[in-house]
Amino acid sequence: MSAASLRPSFYSPSGAVPVAAWILLAAVLVPLAFASGLVYCAAVVFIPAVKLRWIASLGLGWVLGSLAARVCRLGKVRSALFTLFAAGLAVAAAYYAAWGIHRTFHQAAHLGVPVRFNAALLRGFLPTEIARWMLVQIRNGGGGIGGFPLVGVWLVELGAILYFTRTTFLAARDERPFCEPCDRWTIGPEEVANLPVSAADPAWERVKELGPEAIRKLQLSNDVHERVVLSVHRCPDCERSTYLNAAGGGWHSDENGETSYQETTVLQGMAVTPRQVEELRALSTELEEAYRELSADSPEADEATGPAVYSDSAASSP
Ligand SMILES: [Zn+2]
Repeated sequence: MSAASLRPSFYSPSGAVPVAAWILLAAVLVPLAFASGLVYCAAVVFIPAVKLRWIASLGLGWVLGSLAARVCRLGKVRSALFTLFAAGLAVAAAYYAAWGIHRTFHQAAHLGVPVRFNAALLRGFLPTEIARWMLVQIRNGGGGIGGFPLVGVWLVELGAILYFTRTTFLAARDERPFCEPCDRWTIGPEEVANLPVSAADPAWERVKELGPEAIRKLQLSNDVHERVVLSVHRCPDCERSTYLNAAGGGWHSDENGETSYQETTVLQGMAVTPRQVEELRALSTELEEAYRELSADSPEADEATGPAVYSDSAASSP
């Protein structure tokens, strides 16, 4: 059987959510998010500087986003919908906790009522009590502002928490492929080749259709800054789950003449065999040598013509 005759397949997550992930969600993520919400509220109430609100919401978002991503990783979650749900639930738990404790902390900070773990504190967490406390704030003003402007402040605050959670979550979330037969995450990325080719080469389309063998058909790039890095994620326990990625980078200049480095994903999660990976490693070495010879040729040619012209004129001028 020739691998080249088969259309390559690409990794797609199975959508599985193990029971362990639900347990982690309930036993770890929600309680920790709840505790973070309490700390957040304490920070905002007891150190009421406007700047701190931003730092606090940034900090809370960072904690929630990385917690949610970690729980999904540990729980071997292969469902994008579940990861989104986990992050959303973390924000909800923290935000609810912050509002639930707000009246207690507010009274402690402004009226000197000591914070005691009692029935009044617990009652603050009832949704009806939270709603009532919100209305009191809107009517009497919290921190100098009341009414609709105060609601605006709350919305901006919630938006900031959501924004920072999302940013951290997307950065911390690891989209590496999962090896279903071995029930484990793949390792990597491990670089297998760094090719002097362009990410914009139309021959990449052929690679997507025919598999890694078609990488041989790519043109060597004339631009020394253009490279495409091939890397793999692989299962350390078996040879069934090896996935190839390709990302290209190059310096591009815009109409204003400003150059910037742009990275483009060329291939993601293409299923390959360990043998194909070895072939790619060999190809990389081969291309590198060819490319070195090619670029060594041109300066040599210049050197060869340069002195020759000089000696000619030097010989004819006297
Ligand atoms: Zn495996």
